[in-house]
Amino acid sequence: MLSRKQTSSVASHQQCDTYAWFSQRAWVEIDLGALSHNVQQLVQFLSPRTQLMAVVKADAYGHGAVTIAQTVLQSGASWLGVATVPEGIQLREAGIEAPILILGATHTPEQIHAIAHWKLQPTLCSPKQALIFSNVLEAINYGFPVPIHIKLDTGMSRLGTDWQQAAEFVQLVQRLPHLTIASIYSHLATADSLDPTVMQEQHRRFEQAIAQLKEIGIKIPCLHLANSAATLTDSALHYDIVRVGLAVYGLYPAAHLHTAIHLKPVLQLKARVTQVKTIAAGTGVSYSHKFIAPHELRLAVVGIGYADGVPRNLSQNMQVLIRGQRVPQIGTITMDQLMLDVSAIPDLQEGEIVTLLGEQGKEQISANDWAEQLNTISWEILCGFKHRLPRVAVI
Ligand SMILES: *Cc1c(COP(=O)(O)O)cnc(C)c1O
Repeated sequence: MLSRKQTSSVASHQQCDTYAWFSQRAWVEIDLGALSHNVQQLVQFLSPRTQLMAVVKADAYGHGAVTIAQTVLQSGASWLGVATVPEGIQLREAGIEAPILILGATHTPEQIHAIAHWKLQPTLCSPKQALIFSNVLEAINYGFPVPIHIKLDTGMSRLGTDWQQAAEFVQLVQRLPHLTIASIYSHLATADSLDPTVMQEQHRRFEQAIAQLKEIGIKIPCLHLANSAATLTDSALHYDIVRVGLAVYGLYPAAHLHTAIHLKPVLQLKARVTQVKTIAAGTGVSYSHKFIAPHELRLAVVGIGYADGVPRNLSQNMQVLIRGQRVPQIGTITMDQLMLDVSAIPDLQEGEIVTLLGEQGKEQISANDWAEQLNTISWEILCGFKHRLPRVAVI
C-alpha cells in the first residue's frame, strides 16, 4: 500500500485519510521518490564545490512548496529559491531553516522588515534599492547585517544592474551599513537553445564583471549563473551554486539535454470517471456541440476541467490514459468536467482513475506533450494547476 498524504496548504485542512483521498474527483499526485532521485542525480552530476539551490517559486512549480522543499533538502539540496517574500515566509513558517534566496525584486519597508524577521535573503538589483534597504534597516535599528545577493544583467534584460556597472554597484553596497554581500549572480536567456552564442556572450560578460572586481581587490565569496538548462549543458557555468527548477521536477528544459542525467517526472495529474453512458450516432457532446458522435459510442464523463488547470485549448486535441490505454478526449473541455470516447473499454466503471499527465503501463503523457500542443513551455503547464486540486504525496 502506498503511503499518501495531502500536501497543499489548501487541502491540508481536510486531513487526508484513505477515504478522503479516494473520494477526490481529481488531484495532483507528487512522487517524492522521483523528486529525491532527481535531486540525487543532480548532486552527483555537480562537482563537490557546487551547491544545489532548488527553485521552489510558484508553489514549487505547482507541486506544493513545503513538501517539495522538505524533500529536496533531505535529498541533498542546500539552498531554496523563491520569487516573493510570502513564498519565503511560507517555508519558514513550516520550520524550514535552509538559506532562502528571493529571486524577485523587493522594495517596500514591509517587505524589508519581513526579510529581516524571517531571515530571508533578498536580491539587490539597483543602487536605489540598496539605499532603501540600508535606510529601512537603519530605521528599525536591525542589529545584524542582512546577507544580500547582487544581480547583474548580462543580457537577459530583466532584473539586475548592467554588468558594466558591477564594480560601482558592489562598492556602493559595501559602503552601506546593515548589508553584506553573500553572492553575485546573473541569469541566462538562452541556455536551452541549441545555439550557444548568446549564452557564451553572457558568460563572458559575467566573467569580465568578476575580473573587474578582482582588479580592485574585491573577492566575492559566491557566484552563480546556471538554471536547469545551463546546469545540464556545461559545467563551466556551475560556479558555486546552480539554481535548478524544472530539472528538479523531472523535466528536461530541451530535447537535446536528455543525455546529461536521468530524470523522473514528479507530477501526475489524475481524475476519476464520474459517469459512463452510451450515446447514439448523431448525438452532440458538450458546449457548442463541437463533437457529433459519428456512430454509437461509449462516453465517459471525468471530474476535471479548465478551472483545475486543464487548458480548454486542448479540447479534442488531447488523450488520457485509462488501464494503460490511450483514450481520446471529445467535445469542449468545460469548467469542471470533460468527456472521453471510451468505446475501446466497454466495461469501464464509474470511479476508475484517469491519468491526464503521467504514466500507466508503457504509456506516458508528459507536460512537454501538452506544451507542444499548446505552443508553450512545460514550465507554464506545471504552474497552471489550480489549488482546487489537492496535492497528494506518494512515497
Ligand atoms: C526560475 C528561475 C530559475 C530556475 O529556472 P529553471 O529553468 O526552471 O531551472 C533560476 N534562476 C532564476 C533567476 C529564476 O528566476
